[in-house]
Amino acid sequence: MAVGFSMTAGRRTRRAVHAFALLAGCALAPLAAQAQDAAPAAKPVVLHCPALLDSVAGKMLGQSSVVVQGDRVTEVAAGYVTRPDAEVVELAAGDTCLPGLIDAHVHISMEFTPTIYSDMLHFNQADWVVRSTVWAKRTLLGGFTTVRNLGDSHYETVALRDQINKGWVPGPRILSAGPAIGSTGGHADDGDGLRMDLQPDVGPHDSIINGPSDAWKAVREHYKQNVDTIKIMTTGGVLDLSGSVDNSQLTEEETKALVTAAHEYGYIVGVHAHGAEGIRRAVVAGADSIEHGTFMDAQDMKLMKEHGTYYVPTIYTGTYVTEKAKANPHAYPPAVQAKALMVGPQLLKTVGDAYKAGVKFAYGTDAGVFPHGDNWKDFPLLVQVGMPAMYALQMATINAATLLKKDKDLGSVAAGKYADIVAVSGNPLTDITVMGKVDFVMKGGIVFKKGGAEQVFTSTAH
Ligand SMILES: [Zn+2]
Repeated sequence: MAVGFSMTAGRRTRRAVHAFALLAGCALAPLAAQAQDAAPAAKPVVLHCPALLDSVAGKMLGQSSVVVQGDRVTEVAAGYVTRPDAEVVELAAGDTCLPGLIDAHVHISMEFTPTIYSDMLHFNQADWVVRSTVWAKRTLLGGFTTVRNLGDSHYETVALRDQINKGWVPGPRILSAGPAIGSTGGHADDGDGLRMDLQPDVGPHDSIINGPSDAWKAVREHYKQNVDTIKIMTTGGVLDLSGSVDNSQLTEEETKALVTAAHEYGYIVGVHAHGAEGIRRAVVAGADSIEHGTFMDAQDMKLMKEHGTYYVPTIYTGTYVTEKAKANPHAYPPAVQAKALMVGPQLLKTVGDAYKAGVKFAYGTDAGVFPHGDNWKDFPLLVQVGMPAMYALQMATINAATLLKKDKDLGSVAAGKYADIVAVSGNPLTDITVMGKVDFVMKGGIVFKKGGAEQVFTSTAH
């Protein structure tokens, strides 16, 4: 999908180069090191869970106690126990506790509201950033305690990540890719569809590359802006104003250069790809995940199994844009409308086929195309196309954590991991729609939702 919404201004102008040069000798690393959770109370907390998902074993446990100290889980015990001086939180009868959910594909600083295509021309970055704080909170209250943001406009989700980590605003843990990297006229190029005098002159500094050396330059620019991960676009997309959803938009050499450069800097690479050839190029280049994958063919699936590539299907987004286009012939601009009608049914089929073929999956939704907070809506569709509910839950917990290389800290409820724990009202193994009934949310030992009600968040950051 098109992630760039600032279509007119160009991504960034050269800023205060001289002032920055003064800082060049200073160590910037300590700034990043400050990005930590606000310190929670030292008193231990024991959660009494009527049921608890063991995401690693793929089992649902009965009554369990989870002991939390500070921002970490210290113990998981069978039955209801307590500990000296502990505050006990009794989850409601019938609740199921799960590891904090992970959405490996969101756009938390934008949302396709009914006025978005005109807002893109009127809003400043600051408008989007203010809204992103609201979208971040909705995501967290929906039970998603970690997200990978696969594309923003001006690295604003890097800033949002840092302010959430420092405790200024509530939100999920964010792994930010900064802006997605693509080619001239491709899905990442904000100038698509605008009249020529409004099209900014963009290059690798703006995440638009042509050739392998530009690829390295763009990845290094992302490193300089302190991203966590890299997103590239090897094919067309649905919501930009160009004609093709599945054409190839990066050469084999460019794709290989981007993935190699990203890996050299320790980043995993998520690849937006709808067409079979763009998927193939990404997989053979060593990409870590394929996003959307709408027209993935049997050869792609075989290659993904061989290479261990994850599939992040964004399945609800496909259905959502198709339904929206069907309901209203003017829901999207004409070029987008045609593409939107095509992708939903195709994506449902592809996801079912890829699961049967043995491709491994991680959960990711493309939230922002649909309203933030509805991130759970992939679950029922994943079950509908043939996945066991347990597998869908593992996708959003241990599989996503493993893809993101965060499984030491996230993805299961276990001693030593972050105390990111949610509870839903009911048993998702018998009724997957209870994933939309989030009763309780704890992130890093701090309770953001309890008894289905948002808790007052008072920032103690300073
Ligand atoms: Zn996306």
